[in-house]
Amino acid sequence: TAPARDRLRIAIQKNGRLAEPARSLLTACGLSWRQSRDKLFCYGESLPVDLLLVRDDDIPGLIADGVCDFGIVGRNELDEQGAARRRIGLPDAYQALRGLNFGQCRLMLAVPEEWEWTGVEQLAGKRIATSYPAILADWLAERGVDAQVVELSGSVEIAPRLGTADLICDLVSSGATLAANQLKPVETLLESEAVLAGPVRTPDDARAGLMAMLLRRLDGVVKVQDSKLLMFRAALDRVSELTRLLPDADPLVQLPDDGGHLRLQTMCHGALTWQRLEDLERAGAQGLMVLSVERSLA
Ligand code: ATP
Ligand code: MG
Repeated sequence: TAPARDRLRIAIQKNGRLAEPARSLLTACGLSWRQSRDKLFCYGESLPVDLLLVRDDDIPGLIADGVCDFGIVGRNELDEQGAARRRIGLPDAYQALRGLNFGQCRLMLAVPEEWEWTGVEQLAGKRIATSYPAILADWLAERGVDAQVVELSGSVEIAPRLGTADLICDLVSSGATLAANQLKPVETLLESEAVLAGPVRTPDDARAGLMAMLLRRLDGVVKVQDSKLLMFRAALDRVSELTRLLPDADPLVQLPDDGGHLRLQTMCHGALTWQRLEDLERAGAQGLMVLSVERSLA
């Protein structure tokens, strides 16, 4: 078992798509660091929480080995390494604890544009290039498809043109890379986003309290990211219609009134476009105000 520690260690990507958003999320949770010169290790100043800046591929392993307590990594990477471990009989060593609402992408099968896609049976005997061989192999096995998995560490999308594979299984966000390579997406294997990963068992030393505190702060930032506080006045007989127009909001809360009209507020979890505000106004809401929410302790 790993030795007791009284400081928490979080692994994040050093450079790349998840590096910046991961760091700002942790900053929003009240963490700050003294930057070390080599920048691999950042010593926590406001709290005993240190950062390790690494390649995203290393993050699951650092948690599995107990070197780091948390990591911020794409669900795709975590699932791939988890599936690879299971394939060789290793026990689960980490888990996704929270979705973090950034780094969204999909792991998809993409075929040459001229193919007419009729379904997974079409994959029999085909060669599929991917950087996610374990997820792909599991997915094919579940569907009873016998195809050949060609593992490539990068530039997967050019494999069909080079003739090293017939189709690919790769991450897609906008689809522009696929289109530029005359490929089209046909099946989704995984919906991914950045996640907070942690060990399967919480350590029973000083870190446990820090981990719980950090999770609570993360929830207080991530869960309100798409929420707005909506305030307005309305007459009592308008309230049921206004409530109907706010199906994505918490129940209306009544504030002390200022004579005649009710003063109401609610947390709304969907988009509050101008169109919606104008609809609410027509239904009797007055003095509508939309406030952004930075953090909350529910
Ligand atoms: P590293 O040098 O750390 O190994 P990398 O090249 O493996 O970096 P990035 O390209 O920075 O990784 O992507 C990191 C993560 O961002 C991916 O694992 C995935 O979860 C997410 N992501 C979001 N959109 C995309 C996309 N269009 N293509 C690839 N990854 C994406
Ligand atoms: Mg990587």
